[in-house]
Amino acid sequence: MAAGGTWTPVYIGIGSNLDDPARQVRLAVVSLGTLKECHSLCVSPLYSTRPVGPQNQPDFVNAVAGVLTRLEPPELLSALRALEKAQGKQTPAERFGPRRIDLDILVHGQAVFTSETLVVPHPRLHERAFVLYPLADVAPDLWIAGRGRVSALKATVSGDLVSVL
Ligand code: ADP
Ligand code: MG
Repeated sequence: MAAGGTWTPVYIGIGSNLDDPARQVRLAVVSLGTLKECHSLCVSPLYSTRPVGPQNQPDFVNAVAGVLTRLEPPELLSALRALEKAQGKQTPAERFGPRRIDLDILVHGQAVFTSETLVVPHPRLHERAFVLYPLADVAPDLWIAGRGRVSALKATVSGDLVSVL
């Protein structure tokens, strides 16, 4: 963390499709509120969504949380990995497979960051209804570097998702 650095708005994608997913998403929201160097949480409604990728798995519950943080992207990713672990996440057996909790960095201010373990903005957010619907609830005017405005991106994905929880 850059000591005394500026507070940057970040948006975190939250997903679960195991072990009472709505409860897992709410638990994750609570734990996000305990992160060091982070505050001012806002949370979207929760959405019930069909899985992307393997279809033979339960529906997901998805939401997006907004946080102000002084953590740089790699530090924030480490902190999110620790929260996932504390919540009992097991490594999914297959890509896009079922998981108790998934916390992804969607956007970190205006940062464009690429390393072997982290790509920000999230490389698939612009094509995912389960991200864009809740993100548009909390940040419709947010500009995604290289992609466009959230409200416009949402209009390009099919989904007709309804917040149900
Ligand atoms: P999923 O791809 O379903 O989210 P994981 O949560 O296990 O599965 O994450 C897979 C990998 O994605 C992680 O090891 C992480 O290093 C990488 N990753 C790349 N960009 C991001 C990002 N913006 N947010 C979170 N994880 C990311
Ligand atoms: Mg993830």
